[in-house]
Amino acid sequence: MPLPTAKLTDNFGRSFSYLRLSVTNICNFRCSYCLPNGYQKSNTCSHLSVEEIKNLVAGFAAIGISKIRLTGGEPTVRKDFTDIVRAITGTGLINKLSFTTNGYCLKKNAREFFEAGISSVNVSIDSLDQKNFAKITGHDKLEIILAGIDEALAVGFRSVKINSALLREINDHELDSFIFFVKDRPLTVRFIELMQTGDNYDYFKKHHLSSEIISEKLLARGWKISPREFDSGPATEYQHPNSLGKIGIIAPYSKGFCDSCNRLRVTASGDLRLCLFGSGSFSLRPFLQNPSQKKELQEKIIELLHLKTASHFLGAGESGLTSNLSLLGG
Ligand code: SAM
Repeated sequence: MPLPTAKLTDNFGRSFSYLRLSVTNICNFRCSYCLPNGYQKSNTCSHLSVEEIKNLVAGFAAIGISKIRLTGGEPTVRKDFTDIVRAITGTGLINKLSFTTNGYCLKKNAREFFEAGISSVNVSIDSLDQKNFAKITGHDKLEIILAGIDEALAVGFRSVKINSALLREINDHELDSFIFFVKDRPLTVRFIELMQTGDNYDYFKKHHLSSEIISEKLLARGWKISPREFDSGPATEYQHPNSLGKIGIIAPYSKGFCDSCNRLRVTASGDLRLCLFGSGSFSLRPFLQNPSQKKELQEKIIELLHLKTASHFLGAGESGLTSNLSLLGG
């Protein structure tokens, strides 16, 4: 008998409709705050197969997950990325499927991805200056990535967002370039405050900058906070009458940031992570081997959810198991 659609709710009354699924921990970029020495083979995990992902999605959907973001590592380095997209959309169970990418192959593949059923993309661009971009990411690819964004808009992506990690003395002087970039483009740039991870302590100390500075500058330039939409996620968004695009701010160190948490995370090898910076990791893989295990999978997730804490402890410098975000996708 099929289980009734349950709601995933934790001990603090938060309900969960959003899953971030990492499909690989491999990344082809070397972002200075994340993987400055590039992806190291020793970290290789055995990635969930398309079949395992299908079983995972069916299980989560039956208990209320309706939105999935594919991330990594760099999710599009998986040769079967389009198959994963098709498998998920093919279940008919997910209302919104999106992905986060560094955009290196978007110009070439945006149409293929879109036709497979994915229509929201977040592209990470930390600088709009070619040299600065290359310095931060280790790759001189800004131009092709920007062309990929235009391609995503042209093929019909419903939502295109740019994520930019806010880095003191590295890109904090580029706010006006980003404002200019979104003036005539229907997209949102979101500045994400740099987060401390296990690997980046010295970098974090040197380059973390409170996003309040960006907020003050936006207000001074006539931007106004947009009314929050239902399910709008953790960003505070700003709009301006002369701009088609928006600017957002994600401030994970701000008070109450976790109160509206609506997301769970699964690593590329199938471990459930209840919090990006938590210290618990629970393998769901044994429950993904056969569609008939769906009920067991659901019960396991519901049981584990009670271990979710009220907030992360980033403010106290505790980043849990997360040595860098390539393992979980941010
Ligand atoms: N490869 C994909 C990409 O580049 O978007 C997905 C994975 S990447 C880890 C996801 C996002 O996490 C990127 O926007 C990146 O800038 C952000 N990120 C990584 N480490 C971070 C940190 N320590 N603090 C804030 N954002 C971080």
